[in-house]
Amino acid sequence: MTRPIVRVALDTPLRRLFDYLPSHETGHEPRPGVRVRVPFGRQQLVGVVHSLAASSELPTEKLKPLLEVLDAEPVIDAAVLELLEFASTYYHHAIGEVVAAALPKMARHGAPARALVERWFAAEPGLAALAGGELNRARRQRELLEVLRDTPGISGHELTRRIEDWRTPVRALVARGFASSAETPEEAPADDAPLLRAIGPALSDEQATAVAAIDGAAGRFAPFLLYGITGSGKTEVYLHAVEHALRRRRRALVLVPEIGLTPQLVGRFRERFAVDVAVLHSGLTDTERLAAWRDCVAGTARIVLGTRSAVFAPVADLGVVIVDEEHDASFKQHESGFRYSARDLAILRAQRAQVPIVLGSATPSLETLQNVEAGRFTRLSLPRRAGQALPPRAAVIDLREHAVRAGIATPAVEAMQRHLADGGQVLVYINRRGYSPTLACTACGWIAPCRDCDARLTVHLAAQRLRCHHCGADAPLPANCPQCGYAVRHVGQGTERVEETLAQLLPDMPIARLDRDVVRKRGDLESVVSRIASGEARVLVGTQMVTKGHDFPNVTLVVVLNADQGLFSTDFRAPERVAQTIIQVAGRAGRGTKPGEVMIQTEYPEHPLLRSLLDEGYDGFARAALAERAAAGWPPFAHVAALRASAGELATTTNFLRQARALLARLPRGLKLLGPAPAAMAKRAGRYHAQLLLEARDRAPLHRALTDWLPEVEGIKAPRDLRWSLDVDPLELF
Ligand code: ADP
Ligand code: ZN
Ligand code: ZN
Repeated sequence: MTRPIVRVALDTPLRRLFDYLPSHETGHEPRPGVRVRVPFGRQQLVGVVHSLAASSELPTEKLKPLLEVLDAEPVIDAAVLELLEFASTYYHHAIGEVVAAALPKMARHGAPARALVERWFAAEPGLAALAGGELNRARRQRELLEVLRDTPGISGHELTRRIEDWRTPVRALVARGFASSAETPEEAPADDAPLLRAIGPALSDEQATAVAAIDGAAGRFAPFLLYGITGSGKTEVYLHAVEHALRRRRRALVLVPEIGLTPQLVGRFRERFAVDVAVLHSGLTDTERLAAWRDCVAGTARIVLGTRSAVFAPVADLGVVIVDEEHDASFKQHESGFRYSARDLAILRAQRAQVPIVLGSATPSLETLQNVEAGRFTRLSLPRRAGQALPPRAAVIDLREHAVRAGIATPAVEAMQRHLADGGQVLVYINRRGYSPTLACTACGWIAPCRDCDARLTVHLAAQRLRCHHCGADAPLPANCPQCGYAVRHVGQGTERVEETLAQLLPDMPIARLDRDVVRKRGDLESVVSRIASGEARVLVGTQMVTKGHDFPNVTLVVVLNADQGLFSTDFRAPERVAQTIIQVAGRAGRGTKPGEVMIQTEYPEHPLLRSLLDEGYDGFARAALAERAAAGWPPFAHVAALRASAGELATTTNFLRQARALLARLPRGLKLLGPAPAAMAKRAGRYHAQLLLEARDRAPLHRALTDWLPEVEGIKAPRDLRWSLDVDPLELF
């Protein structure tokens, strides 16, 4: 009889599984989803069992046995394993790296999947000694032993709570053979613990309708778009949908954008629910991440709240999936390695688990709106603000018609003074950090360039540095032109300069700034947010960071300093992003009881995008933008994949892409190629970037072509410094 072959996913870029024999000692084969340690060349690797097979393409005598089986139970359940398999095929990425993305780093390196709890017991001789009065003169040992006698298996954690410095007497007890300890896996608490810690506000009719629709879809796949302006009570709907799922003894998976995982949101889940909430995001240390993942594996966490990669979290008995701010670009991993859309995979996960999924947004992606249009998703609307808040009034300030100081036009300054005098707070948005984006010579025209990028260096005045926001280059700020020695000038503005100017224009007003320079370590974000929330700071200047997640009820005026960037980009998605940002920033105004006002500064007040957005809101904009996409044949009316390459020389990059293109000489029907073309910023961090786009009306021919083509692309002989990657459904085209 032939022994089954164990097929293992290993964290390598090779697009295949690796075959092993069951280990010598155990003899029986491990289940899919458990981790195993295997020999790999001269190293040992930890991988995940993908499947079992009757035979291998390799002769059995060439196969090595597993070294160790690390888990008794799968750490990746069948449903998630299937999802990973699908993702590997769909994104054309090596299965081993895809599976690795589902595990925290320490688990990838073999850390136990179950947290072990140290438990303490009194031993027989100890009990006899207690009874015989032998310990009467060792008070601390006696007291500790009495506790161990009365609560056998008490955890070390509990002992620390009850007895100060118990480690010293316990050592003595162990030395005398009077006490012993054991480590056992942590267990999930009983299911009948109370669910709620607090009761939320009574739902509005629209909220109640939304909750009922989601709840009515329990037990089957049903995708919903929860479309509601900022402050309309979407989070309250999520909380209720989660509560209903928990009542059915199911668990909930809640995905949020990278920056949206604010303490405020986590706080709202923890305040509402008495059950364990596991929080998974990139700001955790490896140990914290492992601990949160273990809570998922053990099932102690009934709610899993996380950013992108949490879509792969082990959540058994899933009852509902929620994706907050579904339009947010951070759901798409696009920088390195395995490029996937967590939102799209979440939809798939819900489909396989046969549960409802709620995609929430004030500014849904055009893809999602098109899915509603086509009848695939159900739209649930929250058209009004919760509580008494009124929608803000919006107006445009024509930058060409007014005096402007450091990018702030006079009418905006007057409005700020008015709102501040009325006791409101003001939010000023600009999408650039630093002092000024350009350092220029007043005499010879020199402009400080980045040596390694097609970009200018940004002035950081307080730090006295010149920095590149693309590659991280960092140099001292010169006082004079390095070329001719004349004085230099700061041109344009970023958050730092706006803060400085506002301090002059609004004397004695406490100002807070929120951008990546201010938020550097843990707790920084919280401290800025609390300065605003408490009213201590009256004016907030910030980048995109201010648009996400925070609720500042006393902000009554929002000023968008420059709406124009992105209006003229070559990327077909740029207008969508501009519109989303404007609406999201505007949504920060008037969330409390006072009405809000929004002012948008622009040099193109007649731009059709701005007009549709201001006259008809996001809905009107989306209709116009979708019509444009349909006419031009862009997603969601077509499917796109980008083959990207970079190298030290532009020629290397384009040569490679040209060869790749030539391999598609016999173009499958319906496939269109665009490029190769250098990226808009071709040189970044000393490397030249270019891309080749593949486009098709239907998904199938595109993916068939990719499947046949990629192995051939892998075979192209290119210089060693060439790197390439494939991005399916790219969010950014450059
Ligand atoms: P969103 O997630 O859409 O931005 P939230 O759920 O955060 O909206 O709601 C905005 C504010 O309104 C919050 O302070 C929330 O507690 C409050 N709120 C939500 N629903 C209600 C309701 N039905 N009655 C009263 N207040 C509500
Ligand atoms: Zn000069
Ligand atoms: Zn640079």
